[in-house]
Amino acid sequence: MKSIDERIRTLSNGDIVVLGAPLDENSSFLRGAAQAPKRIREALHEGSSNMYSEAGVDLATTRGWKDIGDLRLGTGAEAISQIERGISMILDRGARPLVLGGDHSITYPSAKACASHFRHLKVLDIDAHPDLYEEYDGNRLSHACPFARLMEEGLGVSLVQAGIRTANAHQREQARRYGVRMIEMDDWPPAKMPSLTGKVYLSIDLDGLDPAFAPGVSHHEPGGLTTRDLLNIIQRIDGEIVAADIVELNPKRDLNGVTARVASKLYKEIVGLMVSQSRRSRARKR
Ligand code: MN
Ligand code: MN
Repeated sequence: MKSIDERIRTLSNGDIVVLGAPLDENSSFLRGAAQAPKRIREALHEGSSNMYSEAGVDLATTRGWKDIGDLRLGTGAEAISQIERGISMILDRGARPLVLGGDHSITYPSAKACASHFRHLKVLDIDAHPDLYEEYDGNRLSHACPFARLMEEGLGVSLVQAGIRTANAHQREQARRYGVRMIEMDDWPPAKMPSLTGKVYLSIDLDGLDPAFAPGVSHHEPGGLTTRDLLNIIQRIDGEIVAADIVELNPKRDLNGVTARVASKLYKEIVGLMVSQSRRSRARKR
């Protein structure tokens, strides 16, 4: 069997590539998210739905995207640097990743690789939580901290968060410090979503959705987005999605696999959108 490195080396410019980052040791409350990539793939291929995105891209017959399996990860800081390295290698090939977490700690190395590759990266984070803690339970790599780590690097990232409904005084202070635009649920829907142009990194923590729609997450936080709200946010992104992730599915908490189905729906929408954007940009260059 080919290693992930070998599979990455076969990627071409403009390819969309799905890969798993099965890491859940930085989850502060419950483990389980490491099983998510497998469950999302099962939900995608179980046959209950077709492979079309809502915009009409049929992933079953569309070339230009592939699932290359999971990263093999160690522990601690090693796992974090393995993720950054894997994403960097993909971007160096001119390909565009959709990463299946894992807990939200995987977004720091993944988005950092993108921010090092593309100047002025815009990050759109969907989440119940700001994940801006300076440290959490003594762990600076906690899934409660990825955006503090990313923003402190000084890589010129701008961060917009939607779905937020747990911000405390510390996290509000962190948001001010890093210039984060936080769209909170008590103000949903906003008069206007900020327009995201340029290079966009889309990070979806499934607990940004209301637990009624996505019960298979570690942190049930009522009062969240509907699945429809989230799909519309994704479909209205103006910029080029250069990378995305779907994190925090915890199959141990799921009910009848419904959250895995939500994740597989988001997978189809995001890959469909990225494939269309990649085709358009190739056509322009021709
Ligand atoms: Mn999160
Ligand atoms: Mn969250």
